[in-house]
Amino acid sequence: MDLILASQSATRRRILNSARISAQFMSPQIDEENITKSLIAEQALPRDIADTLAEHKALKISRKNPDSWVIGCDQILVFEGEIFGKPASPEALKTSLSRLSGKTHRLITANVIYKDSKPQWRHISISHMSMRFMSAAEIDAYIEAYWEDVKHSAGGYHFEKTPDLFADVRGNWFDIMGLSIGPIISFLNQTNTTAPFQTPKLAAVLGHPIAQSKSPLMHGHWLKKHQISGDYFAIDIPPARFSETVRMLFDLGFSGFNVTIPHKEQALAFADDATPRAQRIGASNTLIKKDNGNITADNTDGYGFMTNLISQSTTWQPSAGPSLVLGAGGAARAILVALLDAGAPKIYLCNRTRARAEDLAAEISDLIEVIEWQDKEDILPKVFTVVNSTSLGMIGKPALDFDLTHVNPRALVADLIYAPLETQLLKGARARGCEVVGGIGMLLHQGVPGFEAWFGTRPVVDQELETLVLT
Ligand code: NAP
Repeated sequence: MDLILASQSATRRRILNSARISAQFMSPQIDEENITKSLIAEQALPRDIADTLAEHKALKISRKNPDSWVIGCDQILVFEGEIFGKPASPEALKTSLSRLSGKTHRLITANVIYKDSKPQWRHISISHMSMRFMSAAEIDAYIEAYWEDVKHSAGGYHFEKTPDLFADVRGNWFDIMGLSIGPIISFLNQTNTTAPFQTPKLAAVLGHPIAQSKSPLMHGHWLKKHQISGDYFAIDIPPARFSETVRMLFDLGFSGFNVTIPHKEQALAFADDATPRAQRIGASNTLIKKDNGNITADNTDGYGFMTNLISQSTTWQPSAGPSLVLGAGGAARAILVALLDAGAPKIYLCNRTRARAEDLAAEISDLIEVIEWQDKEDILPKVFTVVNSTSLGMIGKPALDFDLTHVNPRALVADLIYAPLETQLLKGARARGCEVVGGIGMLLHQGVPGFEAWFGTRPVVDQELETLVLT
């Protein structure tokens, strides 16, 4: 099917790509401002203005491409009967955001399909967007951070970048993004006799900050590799807005989320129920919407850690003898639970701040014995597994000062750090004959259960993925 999207919007392109619909993208270049002015003068309704603008765009491209199916799109923001266009300047944006703050506006999305200069199909959706109250200082900070991103958007916001600006939204993710892909797919599937398209499923990683996350790269790779109709985003949510924003995103159609620092505890509290491992760890890195609408919290960090160790070593048995875990932060919780669940008979836990290790041991199991940070070398001859779950040894952090002279050469030494790929700890352990395992595999494997739950296919962790994530 020869399809053209008459739009320059990267967001709309992304939606078509995520639905595995191949199309050409053409810019229709119509005089939107004048057409809108004359429609307003004729007292046209906002929905008719959006529809007419979408038609003009589709028609212009269709005239030159009569054999193609052409999708035309337009979006209009309406508040108190007034149409809000693209902000002309930061000052204009300040005025419009001050008016929208704490109020509900309508976002009208019109999509039409033309062929041979004749309309074939049309669809109009209206989303109700309730912006939370923003102080003047918050508006200033927002404009300073996002002006370049939002200056071409009606109303001056990018919902996908800052959904936390909204207290409540009634609608559907794709309508808000400007392309009503579900109805478009229904039309295309009726018209097109070949491959049926499917509405993309949606997932995202939520954190604060989130720009550094490798998860979009990883899940994007799996979606492409397995030819799945779906999309995966990175969304920054400030901690104070976590629950409301996640609830809203689920209501808009998301299947689930990965959750990272600082939201893992809040994610567990937010969910309707939790897997036993998430409950024992006391934090969640994966939220899944079930068929009955309930949200389940899982924690796949320990699963990722253990799967990585098992896949890297042919001989290692967690039950072979005691383990030593360095660190008592968020990651250590998952490691301790995973080692115990896999049969570790005893774990020595050692952390710079001893009290933190004691709290963790008391919470998790009496098989965990806390030792002093300076005694970590003394315990080495006794242990069969050594895990560094501190941030020491990571690029940009201090080195881990750890003398391995007395390490058991039959021990497996694992580091959660993956930058650098092989830490000084692993180099030293390898030189002493130990099996060593780095942290990258944990990162890759922890993503598998979430991807399978949201997108319905169990993805593969392979060298291609590792190379992609590391470059
Ligand atoms: P976290 O909650 O911030 O904990 C950091 C840990 O490092 C604490 O135990 C802390 O000890 C210790 N630490 C920090 N600076 C130290 C120093 N100068 N001397 C001694 N100990 C120090 O972090 P996290 O989430 O547990 O993550 C820990 C590491 O694991 C990070 O490097 C992270 O990138 C990595 N990680 C990797 C994966 C993966 O998939 N491979 C997953 C999760 C985490 P105190 O309690 O005394 O502050």
